[in-house]
Amino acid sequence: AALPRFRMSVRSAAVSVTPLVTELRKDCTTPLPLLRHVADAMAADMRAGLAVEGGSDLKMILSYVDSLPTGNEKGLFYALDLGGTNFRVLRVQLGGKEERVIATEFDQVPIPKDLMFGTSEELFDFIASGLAQFAQNEGNKFHLPTGTKREIGFTFSFPVKQTAVDSGILIKWTKGFSVSGTAGRDVVACLNEAMERLGLDMRVSALVNDTVGTLAGARYWDDDVMVAVILGTGTNACYVERVDAIPKLQDHASSGSTIINTEWGAFSKGLPLTEFDRDMDAASINPGEQIFEKTISGMYLGEIVRRVLLKMAEADALFGDSILEKLSTPFVLGTPDLCAMQQDTSDDLQDVGSILYNVAGVESNPSARKIVVEVCDTIVKRGGRLAGAGIVGILQKMEEDSKGVIFGKRTVVAMDGGLYENYPQYRTYLSEAVTELLGDDSAKNVVIEHSKDGSGIGAALLAAANSKYHSHDS
Ligand code: BGC
Ligand code: MG
Repeated sequence: AALPRFRMSVRSAAVSVTPLVTELRKDCTTPLPLLRHVADAMAADMRAGLAVEGGSDLKMILSYVDSLPTGNEKGLFYALDLGGTNFRVLRVQLGGKEERVIATEFDQVPIPKDLMFGTSEELFDFIASGLAQFAQNEGNKFHLPTGTKREIGFTFSFPVKQTAVDSGILIKWTKGFSVSGTAGRDVVACLNEAMERLGLDMRVSALVNDTVGTLAGARYWDDDVMVAVILGTGTNACYVERVDAIPKLQDHASSGSTIINTEWGAFSKGLPLTEFDRDMDAASINPGEQIFEKTISGMYLGEIVRRVLLKMAEADALFGDSILEKLSTPFVLGTPDLCAMQQDTSDDLQDVGSILYNVAGVESNPSARKIVVEVCDTIVKRGGRLAGAGIVGILQKMEEDSKGVIFGKRTVVAMDGGLYENYPQYRTYLSEAVTELLGDDSAKNVVIEHSKDGSGIGAALLAAANSKYHSHDS
C-alpha cells in the first residue's frame, strides 16, 4: 500500500550516532563459534530436562502423543486454537487414506486485549462462545454418526504440564498474557466449565501445544517430519523422541517414541544480549523468563528496536528535535513495521520515513533512516541466526542418540508462525545459520518446510487418533 509522502528538514546529527550502531552490531554479533556454543548448550539443556523434572531451563514436556497421524483418520473433528494474537476455530471432515481432507472450514478472530488481562472465566467464556457460534452453522459437507459427541483438538499455545493427552495444567502464561486464575489449573476443565455454562456439549479429546499440532499436521502428509518449530508472536519447538532416551519417564514401557514439547523459549545460555534486552526483560510482565523467546520472536523484535532508537534519539538526536512521546511508548513499534522498513530499497528510504512518522511520530532524514534500517537488520539478524542455532541444537541431540538417522537421510523441520512466514530477511538469516552450522553435506538433508496453519488440522487429527467414539486406525 502506498504510504503518505512528506517533506521535511531535520537538523539531525546522525553522524554522531554511528558509534552507537557500531557498538550495537558488535554486541549482537553471532559468529559461527557463538552459534555452535548455543546449539551445544541447547542440546545439553534438552538432555538435562529429559533426565529429571526441573533439571534445566527447558521443561521438555511429555505430550502424551505417542502415535502420529497415519492418514487413516476418519470423521468430523473440531479444533480450537488459542495462541498469541488470534483465536481460531476449525472443523474438518477426514476421509481416510484415499480421500484425506474432504472438507474444512475455519473462522478466526483477534483476541481482545482486555481478555489478556482479565479473569480465567472471561477468557474461557469467550473461547466457548466462539466455538458455540461456529458449531451452530455446520453445513451439509460435514457428517457425524448419530449418538456421538463432537470432539475437539484443543491447541493451547502456552507451557502446560500434560497429565494425559486430554488434560494438562497451565504452568504460566507467556507472550504478554496475564489472565488471573488459570495458572495451576487444568485448562481442559476450564474450557469444559465454560461450555457447560453455555450448554454446549462437546468433548476435548486432545490438548496439544501448537508445536505438537504442527508436527502432527505436517506428518500427516510427510513421514520425514521429525521436528516442528513455531516462530510467531512467541517461539517453541517439539520433536520426536525415543522413549528409552527419557530417563525421567520411569514407569513406562521403554520402547517406541513420543513427542516432547521442549518449551525452548525459556532457554537462556550463551545469548549475546544488550542493555536493551535487559531493560525490556525487566519491564516485562515475566522478568527473567522466556529469554530466548524475548531475543528471537515476533512479539519482541520491534520493541527491542524501539528501545535502541529511543536511546539514539535521546542521546544523539537521531530524529532531530522530533517529539519523542510516541517513540517512548512500549510496543508502539511492531515487528511487521521493521519488516516493512527493511523492504524499502529506494535511495531516500521514503517508506522508512513514512513508517517512522506514522508509527513512532518522528521525522527523519535519509541518513537517519539508513541507521534505523541498520538497527532493524542487526536485531533481526541476531534473532534469525539464533533461531537457526536452536534448530541445529535439536537435530544434533537427535543425531547423537541415533547416528545417521537425522543427517544421513532426509529430515523435515515443519515450521509455522507469522515471523517466519512474513519476514524474508529473518528466514534467510535463519537458514544461513543452519547451513553454516551443519556444513553443506548434512544441511542438504535437512528441509525446513513451511507448514501453514498446520496446527489446526494437526490438533483435529490428534483428536481423531484419541477419539472416544471413532474406531482408531481402521
Ligand atoms: C509458549 C509455547 C508456544 C510458543 C509458540 C510460547 O510463548 O510458551 O507453549 O508453543 O509460545 O506459540
Ligand atoms: Mg499460533
